[in-house]
Amino acid sequence: QVKMNGKNNFMVFNPSMNEIIQRKASLQQDLKQALKNKQLEIYYQPKFDLASNRYDGFEALVRWNHDERGFIPPLEFIRIAEESNLIIELGDWILEESCRFISNYNLSHQSSYSIAVNISTFQLLNDDFEEKVTNVLEETGLDPCLLELEITETMLMNSMSIAYEKLKFLREKNISIALDDFGTGYSSLTYLKSLPITTVKLDKSFIDDIATDKLSLKIVENVIQIAKNIGLKIVVEGVETIDQLEILKDLPCNKIQGYYFSKPVSKLNLTEVLSEYP
Ligand code: C2E
Ligand code: MG
Ligand code: MG
Ligand code: MG
Repeated sequence: QVKMNGKNNFMVFNPSMNEIIQRKASLQQDLKQALKNKQLEIYYQPKFDLASNRYDGFEALVRWNHDERGFIPPLEFIRIAEESNLIIELGDWILEESCRFISNYNLSHQSSYSIAVNISTFQLLNDDFEEKVTNVLEETGLDPCLLELEITETMLMNSMSIAYEKLKFLREKNISIALDDFGTGYSSLTYLKSLPITTVKLDKSFIDDIATDKLSLKIVENVIQIAKNIGLKIVVEGVETIDQLEILKDLPCNKIQGYYFSKPVSKLNLTEVLSEYP
């Protein structure tokens, strides 16, 4: 079978592409159902704070264990949700669920852990996003300074001034804003100066070989220096080895996140994870 793609090119439409399209359509249906039936779960990955030598917060990461297909990677179903309007409903649920959880956890453990929530660009650009965030904080009683929103530059370039206004409003409420996956895009440095962010999260790919490759280390050192010089906090993600950790301890970064400390865990295993660095 041959399918025209609108220009003067054609692509071969083979069975495996057909499978991909069908998987997508069926996952989209199932995701809607899973959201309604509360079959999604939030996992929490601790962030290690170098200054205090302890965990001081978590990133919320959504998990979907499909009835028949098993674990579906979040990047896959988030993309599917973004292709329909489902990302709004899904994002609302993730934000509320994780804020409520951490607020209750802090109350019952007399702690003040922060929570970082990934926000899709579609959510951020939706008209009532700021209002929803303010409502969730009010309803869950979470202190705004314990909430961090993680955004990525994906699809932001055409809506910079809208994004700017929205983020500025949220900053004025004392909510933190992190630029996620920093170092994977093309014009990252521009975003650092043109958005009212508080934090930069260095992508795993940036630091993978800092322990073995001098050039990689030099680049990371300099990027961290730039971020620090303009007053941003730095979180390094994807740290897996003690060698990476030892190197990063000597650089002026603030927090470390990665399998070296802990994988994302279910809320049921959180207290156990926390007992290691109380
Ligand atoms: P992200 O926000 O950059 O999250 C970090 C990802 O790296 C997570 O993958 C985490 O499990 C993984 N990770 C953390 N430390 C390590 C490490 O040391 N080694 C390795 N190999 N991986 C590590 P996950 O949970 O599969 O999520 C992937 C992406 O999916 C996230 O990247 C984020 O873009 C998106 N995502 C996940 N949960 C949500 C959500 O609730 N909402 C939205 N909008 N997106 C989400
Ligand atoms: Mg993130
Ligand atoms: Mg990231
Ligand atoms: Mg990532």
